[in-house]
Amino acid sequence: MAETIIYAARKIITMAPSRPEVSHVAVRDGRILGIGTLEELASWGDYRLDDRFAGKVLMPGFVEGHAHTMEGTLWRNVYVGWFDRMDPDGRVWSGLKSIDAVVDRLREAEAQMTDPEAPLAAWALDPIYMENRRVTRQELDQVSTTRPIGILHASGHIMNVNTRALELAGLMKPGVNHPGIPLGEDGVPLGPLYGPDAMTPVGPHVGFDRALTDCDERGLRDYGKLCVRAGVTTCTDLAARLTDDSVDMMLRVTAEDDYPACIVPLRVFFGMSAEEIVDYCVSLKPRSTERLRLGRIKAVADGSIQGFSARLRWPGYYNGAPNGLWYTAPEQMSELYHRALAAGVQVHTHTNGDQATQMALDMLEPALKAHPSPDHRFTLQHCQMADAAQFRKMRSLGMNVNLFANHHFYWGDEHYRLTVGPERACRMNACRTALDTGVPMAIHSDAPVTPLGPLFTAWAAVNRITASGRVQGEEERISVSEALYAITLGAAYTLHMDGEVGSIEVGKRADFAVLDSDPTQTDPMALKDIGVWGTVQGGRVFPASAL
Ligand SMILES: [Zn+2]
Repeated sequence: MAETIIYAARKIITMAPSRPEVSHVAVRDGRILGIGTLEELASWGDYRLDDRFAGKVLMPGFVEGHAHTMEGTLWRNVYVGWFDRMDPDGRVWSGLKSIDAVVDRLREAEAQMTDPEAPLAAWALDPIYMENRRVTRQELDQVSTTRPIGILHASGHIMNVNTRALELAGLMKPGVNHPGIPLGEDGVPLGPLYGPDAMTPVGPHVGFDRALTDCDERGLRDYGKLCVRAGVTTCTDLAARLTDDSVDMMLRVTAEDDYPACIVPLRVFFGMSAEEIVDYCVSLKPRSTERLRLGRIKAVADGSIQGFSARLRWPGYYNGAPNGLWYTAPEQMSELYHRALAAGVQVHTHTNGDQATQMALDMLEPALKAHPSPDHRFTLQHCQMADAAQFRKMRSLGMNVNLFANHHFYWGDEHYRLTVGPERACRMNACRTALDTGVPMAIHSDAPVTPLGPLFTAWAAVNRITASGRVQGEEERISVSEALYAITLGAAYTLHMDGEVGSIEVGKRADFAVLDSDPTQTDPMALKDIGVWGTVQGGRVFPASAL
């Protein structure tokens, strides 16, 4: 018989309603055999007592319901974000506060490159902190005129490229007519590219061919390290292409004995018809394993609010910017919902602006009438601008929501003064309204858009502090225990995985986040600073210090 290990901890926060706090958990075969006192658990038979967590606090392994494993691959490019950020190996890169600093860091990286043809790729730029100024190709030409250069924005929805990159993509010419490709006064593209349609032809020339939505083998391993550092044991990959090759690679890597997380990739609704993607996901589902869960769809309705590419209802953007882009037309969304419901395939839909949220609701309601689907758990992802009426509609349609709580900190000030204005900024990511309305809720990082770190995300939902230190929308704050639920069982529920992860209970996977201190006894303002020792995933122990 398999060995039984009983872990003793300072405290185990179980999220199990009948026994919320215990001192011991027994693990056998990678699953939880029981929780309780040592005496109670000893009756299961021979065991080994492991007290390495005697000074630690165990929680259910965190479930990140919206992130992208591409972050693992992005770290091989140059980081040019505004905020300090830790890479998979634990090194912290300082944030850059001006375009000049970005150009300088790119120059440094360029000077170290040996292949003169190789593209220079960077990521995490966010011009909204820099007077929202567009970065032109001429500015990037200061780094190199002979080497293609591309910078992916923090939102993932915009890219800046230099002249050489446009030349290689055949776009350095007048007459380019695309809403996502603004032209300069000379009539040729200015450098920024908005949305996947505009980015796709240039991406391969600047090193972002697959990295835009997919990670590669090394990236997936590096992503696993980020998961351990953040206490995450189940993580979505919310917009993967899932080609045959990448599915094979993900199956192989996640099956390695030391792969530390369960990855849940969703096939992005892009480049396939509704019929094709539903059929494809039906065929993928049976290939799922213990650590790779296949067979779900991610649709994207609009862009990002801070990139002004989200679709807003009247009165639109506070600064008068024109309305954003439909990434998926309403008719396509309708067809997708009908076919997915008919086939029993779950769809998660990215909506940022409130018009995009309304579109998803309007398309889902008739589809549900045509294909009644109890417990479909269709989930709106981000859904940042939803008002109370939209949450009521979500509840009546049986939808879940996964709100982007990290936005309060990262873009809250910009939303207040620039993108949507004070009133709508205060109700953005309305966690309190979602819970009070009875909509099942998760909260997320959307890594790489913001760093993977559920305790930070919980902090953001509890405090709603902006980067400048203001509380924005205090009525929409939630309690610490509600936030801890959202990053465990709440997120597991949106994935139909609440029966196997998200709480520490008999029969569930032995997934724990190992914390240095107790989040329920910590000052709520210090939630984000709680140290993560590492994780236990499927009964395997992963100390962050050993990565
Ligand atoms: Zn995302």
